[in-house]
Amino acid sequence: MLPEMLLSWWLLFSPFVPQATAPEKPVNVILVIGDGMGLAQIALAEYLYKPPSPLSRMDVVGLQKTHSASHLETDSGAAGTAMSCGVKTFNAAIGVDADSVPVKSILELASEHGMKTGLVVTSSIVHATPASFYAHVTSRGSYEEIALQLVSANVDVFVGGGEKYFFDRHSDHDNLVKTLERKQYEIVRLDDPRGRVKLEGVRKEKRIACFTALEDPIRATMGRSYLPYMAPEAVHALEKRADKGYFLMVEASQVDWAAHANDREWLALEMQDAYSMMENLLELVNEDENTLLIITADHECSYMSLKGKKSPKVEFNTKVHSSQMVPVFAHGPGAEQFAGIYENTAIFDKIKMLLGI
Ligand SMILES: [Zn+2]
Repeated sequence: MLPEMLLSWWLLFSPFVPQATAPEKPVNVILVIGDGMGLAQIALAEYLYKPPSPLSRMDVVGLQKTHSASHLETDSGAAGTAMSCGVKTFNAAIGVDADSVPVKSILELASEHGMKTGLVVTSSIVHATPASFYAHVTSRGSYEEIALQLVSANVDVFVGGGEKYFFDRHSDHDNLVKTLERKQYEIVRLDDPRGRVKLEGVRKEKRIACFTALEDPIRATMGRSYLPYMAPEAVHALEKRADKGYFLMVEASQVDWAAHANDREWLALEMQDAYSMMENLLELVNEDENTLLIITADHECSYMSLKGKKSPKVEFNTKVHSSQMVPVFAHGPGAEQFAGIYENTAIFDKIKMLLGI
């Protein structure tokens, strides 16, 4: 018995015994999704962007597997739902599992725990990726139903297009913009998508609905430039309102659309726009030790590759999504949790664990 007792005493006091350390916990989480932003799209931006790029300054890199429950090539609904709700579902589903049963999202959990929540996108706010954070429908095209669900989701700050789904409705003829106003939303309109709008003047008792277009916002090639500015505006608006932290999802929505269209110029400008947004967010979180920044994609689009001798030449190989893994970059408290290779559903699991919700 004696040698065993000695061994256990030695284990107890030895400085060499590895200690399991609890992960550092963030108070706030910002999740950036580049829709369709695979490694080739990122590589293009890395060649175009003057170093050091925001992604090259992130603490940790991992890879996520993007397949859905129904297809190797996921769509944005199933991939968004995997990251927002932690379940694999069928393509076109939003916030429901493979049996069409609604599943609570990380944004809804955050809200239930007293955190403030936000969404900033360059699509309509009812489009698949943002919708997967607050809506529960079996078909991503049910825009009027998704708008109705956004009104009752109580997202504290949202920025995106698609205002027409709130007032020009065929299913019920309701005016949901008026309903938002009754629910203490300040309606802010970005009349010129080349411009900017300040949110700091809105009283903190109010929620903010910032509409950037009646339908989808215009392309970066047509002058849309609000994302790099409105993402930090949303951060400041959430900071002002939050006393238990916040969860913000920001989407560079049109990287995917440019790849679907096989349009090189459009893709390059969308990536530059996304990089400017990432740069601004990285600068903010570098001044704040409580915020975890995660940057990833929902899937790759077009099996894109780069060719050439000096300057990169983009080659699109399809007009649809691919099944490639996509990178996950993380920076700030808890970032180390995002190293390795894992399923897209693990994004939800890791954020939930880190926020303790
Ligand atoms: Zn797509």
